Amino acid sequence: MTPPALEAYRASARSWLAASAPPPLPQDYRLRTEALREWHSTLYRSGWVGIDWPRELGGQGLSLEHALIFIEESARAGAPQPFGAIGLHVVGPTLLRYGTGEQLARFVEPLLSGKEIWCQGFSEPDAGSDLASLRTRAVLEDDEFVLTGQKIWTSWADDSDWCAVLARTDPDRAQHKGISYLLVDMKTPGVTVRPITQITGDAEFCEVFFEDVRVPRSNLLGPLHGGWELAMHTLGHERSGYALRRRAELEVSYRNLLDAIRLGDSGPDVAVRIGAAYVTLRGLSALSRRAVRRARNGEVPSPLDSVDKLALAKGEQQLFGTALDLLGAHRAAPLTEGTSLDGEQIVKDYLHGRAASVYGGSEQIQLTIVAERLLGLPRMR
Ligand SMILES: Cc1cc2nc3c(=O)[nH]c(=O)nc-3n(C[C@H](O)[C@H](O)[C@H](O)COP(=O)(O)OP(=O)(O)OC[C@H]3O[C@@H](n4cnc5c(N)ncnc54)[C@H](O)[C@@H]3O)c2cc1C
Repeated sequence: MTPPALEAYRASARSWLAASAPPPLPQDYRLRTEALREWHSTLYRSGWVGIDWPRELGGQGLSLEHALIFIEESARAGAPQPFGAIGLHVVGPTLLRYGTGEQLARFVEPLLSGKEIWCQGFSEPDAGSDLASLRTRAVLEDDEFVLTGQKIWTSWADDSDWCAVLARTDPDRAQHKGISYLLVDMKTPGVTVRPITQITGDAEFCEVFFEDVRVPRSNLLGPLHGGWELAMHTLGHERSGYALRRRAELEVSYRNLLDAIRLGDSGPDVAVRIGAAYVTLRGLSALSRRAVRRARNGEVPSPLDSVDKLALAKGEQQLFGTALDLLGAHRAAPLTEGTSLDGEQIVKDYLHGRAASVYGGSEQIQLTIVAERLLGLPRMR
């Protein structure tokens, strides 16, 4: 049973969204980004960002359950999530866990309000799955690191003010013991960002080059050479946290698809596919409840984050694969006619769904983590 206070919170979120949710976002990537930034700032001013972040740092001091209720209601209302997703859900938790008082005072409020957008500079051209082999280097000179190297696939780097960069600070130690976690101002001389256009037509992720970029020592997060632990913390939150937030949107898309199928004649194998998507979404929902308990008990990161991530990728791909096939089969009398389905969005969701088995660590790497760390099999690499 949901406690009455949570129900009241849901009711207030629902009525606020009914009055304030923005119109459908523009298709053009740049215009959409601007609209999303504005939406982020409206959400923050109205108390809907940082719902479970400490009040003294600019959050609302409520629980993760409250934050998830707002996400569910946003999905129901067709309202987007705030723009600064990497800051809020990927880098932010690590900043909260490892930041000094000064770092928290400097970075958290602009991160929550969307005044400063963050990106995550982990992957490199030759270091994705094998992240510990990264070659971007930071040399400490007096009170500054001098940062040189290249990152790739850095989502929203072109729109970001700050980047959480993993850099090698001690080349003589074992690979994962010589890495530090630096907070880099993207406006520093020597930083170059080159957007990469994806199959969706959006240029969401980028290459980022660092050429003798000077980073104050005070922007080191956590211990010098101790960045690997922080990187695993960030990735744990990325893997389980994204599944938690995305589930609500998948369920809304699933219900819209079901309504459209009920209206028309969709062919014989649809029942099997829509049934399979339903089962996967129910599994994701159960995993979400466990993820909430784990987050509350401080059990992130954990190998269980990989299970959540794998279930999310399967849910995305089953759901939007089915939707796309149905869309194709209904060209003459469009599946979307008279329903809440948006054909263009289905194509985008399908393409994004393919990426779900790559970002945050590939499917094969997540399965290997499950085999080795959950099932106790010996290391196979
Ligand atoms: C949409 C999207 C957004 C992203 N955003 C970011 C971001 O913001 N910041 C960031 O740092 N990175 C980001 N990434 C990068 C992502 O983390 C990497 O793509 C991912 O970790 C895989 O690395 P790679 O691309 O170098 O592939 P590789 O590591 O070269 O892997 C290629 C293939 O080989 C397989 N493989 C590799 N090693 C093994 C092994 N030991 N066992 C079995 N199979 C193996 C992989 O599973 C994969 O299928 C993003 C990626 C995508 C798709």
